[in-house]
Amino acid sequence: MPVGALLQALVDLVLPASCAGCGESAQPLRYEVCADCARVVESLRAAPTRPDPAPDGLPACVALGAYDGRLRELILGFKERGRHRLARPLGALLAEAVAATAAPGRPLLLLYVPDTAEAARARHGDHMLRLARAAAQRLREAGRQAGVAAPLRALPKADSAHLSSAQRAAGAAGAFVLRGGAVERARRAAPGSVTVLLDDIVTTGATLAAASVLLDSAGLRVDACVALAATRRYLPQRAI
Ligand SMILES: [Zn+2]
Repeated sequence: MPVGALLQALVDLVLPASCAGCGESAQPLRYEVCADCARVVESLRAAPTRPDPAPDGLPACVALGAYDGRLRELILGFKERGRHRLARPLGALLAEAVAATAAPGRPLLLLYVPDTAEAARARHGDHMLRLARAAAQRLREAGRQAGVAAPLRALPKADSAHLSSAQRAAGAAGAFVLRGGAVERARRAAPGSVTVLLDDIVTTGATLAAASVLLDSAGLRVDACVALAATRRYLPQRAI
């Protein structure tokens, strides 16, 4: 490889020059996103979403869009490709959806679905914590009172890619444990606040439902779940 090309490859590793949404490399980027992709995702509006069937204990859910196209690419770029600067635009989108769920003037307590320790190591930090903090900052910049609490810890999990909806629900129920001190701090902050549970993608709703039920058992009632994207209805594979 010529030295010039090698240097270019190294620069790309350090500072990806292509848009995280569309892969276009000729456009100026702001927080990893070209102006065209920014327009597309900024035009998304939070809307209620409900998996069908919805698992027991799932609070009202809101998502910004379907998990496809540029929104999907941005989420994957942030979550799996190390493009941490996307926390700012994705956090701003999440903040807008959070704000839509709560009356102005009410303080907001943001909880999130945590990564397992293994996933957080691979991602150089818990990606939902990073997103929750970015969303809270954005909300405060907009004049809202907003804080982040971390009352959940994710236990190591087996690969769930091939599980049925019912198997996933059973697995999700044992996926988290409560963090005592953080639960106590969150419970002190919760009265008078709107408590919102954040995740990146709603699929079957099993994870959000399991986390909400566990939080509720500790006296932390989740008022709404907010996600960046929702997948199309999950259809179990038919036996052949
Ligand atoms: Zn783009």
